[in-house]
Amino acid sequence: MHEEPRVKGLVFSICRSSAEDGPGIRTTVFLKGCPLNCIWCHSPQCRGSIKPQLAFYESRCIMCGACEAGCPKGLQIVSDRGRQILWDQCDHCGKCADICPSKALEMAGVWMTAEQVMDVLKRDIVYYRNSGGGVTFSGGEPTMQPQFLSICLQHCKQQGIHTAVDTCGFVKWSILENMLPFIDLFLYDIKHMDDEKHKTLTGTGNRLILENLQNIIRSEKPVWIRVPLIPGYNDSLDNLLRIRDLVEKLSFVEKVSILPYNSAAGAKYQFIGKKYSLEDIKPPPHERMEELLKVFSSLDTRVEFNR
Ligand code: SF4
Ligand code: SF4
Repeated sequence: MHEEPRVKGLVFSICRSSAEDGPGIRTTVFLKGCPLNCIWCHSPQCRGSIKPQLAFYESRCIMCGACEAGCPKGLQIVSDRGRQILWDQCDHCGKCADICPSKALEMAGVWMTAEQVMDVLKRDIVYYRNSGGGVTFSGGEPTMQPQFLSICLQHCKQQGIHTAVDTCGFVKWSILENMLPFIDLFLYDIKHMDDEKHKTLTGTGNRLILENLQNIIRSEKPVWIRVPLIPGYNDSLDNLLRIRDLVEKLSFVEKVSILPYNSAAGAKYQFIGKKYSLEDIKPPPHERMEELLKVFSSLDTRVEFNR
């Protein structure tokens, strides 16, 4: 009998016992690939195309030199004078990671079937049930792998697991629409209300994102809005007031989460040989956050400030 090949998804990581990506205790599945290119991205290993990517963790390197011999392109240089990777010529074939004895070199992204993902998710079903939790698919942008995501969501629903999708919203509506029956909650990012500024900060305009949000609301699915607050980039009073005005008009928004800028992301860029352009930005002081939160105080919706 002919057997259909199993669809595989590129999974960056699976984080058990998360308390921030939806209600209750959750497992968050981070899928690789993202259509946006936010300048403050906290998961640079997750963005870009759906391909595994070489990452280097210097603190684990024992300078054994195996990778130097193992790279067919000669891009790993290990000598008394230091350690270098010629990142711009790397095609992420993974040969050096295969032979690194200390896991200093690893590939970000593992191909998995939905069944393999479910084997991990099912371990915590009792915690989901007892805490009102479930599973959240995040990224990157999980809808970049629509077939795989849809199969995972359907498996979750068959197991009675609550599902959330954390999305930037930059996806064809037909893709989201097909998944709607299997999604219990959307975590939805709003980054900037001005189309041009959104384009400058993320590489894309916001029209499709705002249209999809309206479509989700029309479908009567609950939504948690998430606003990453990047000092000097999207924390102007005007932008926050426009976000507040948008939320005010929307039913089914259960919560607004303000996510203050976190400078810890910078180190992750080094792991993949990239430079972080926001190195000099500092997280907003507590008083500034309190002040900005007042903008949302007129909303009936719950507003949270995630530290
Ligand atoms: S992943 Fe890059 S550095 Fe490593 S062996 Fe392949 S080409 Fe060389
Ligand atoms: S193989 Fe791994 S541990 Fe050895 S030098 Fe290369 S990165 Fe370091």
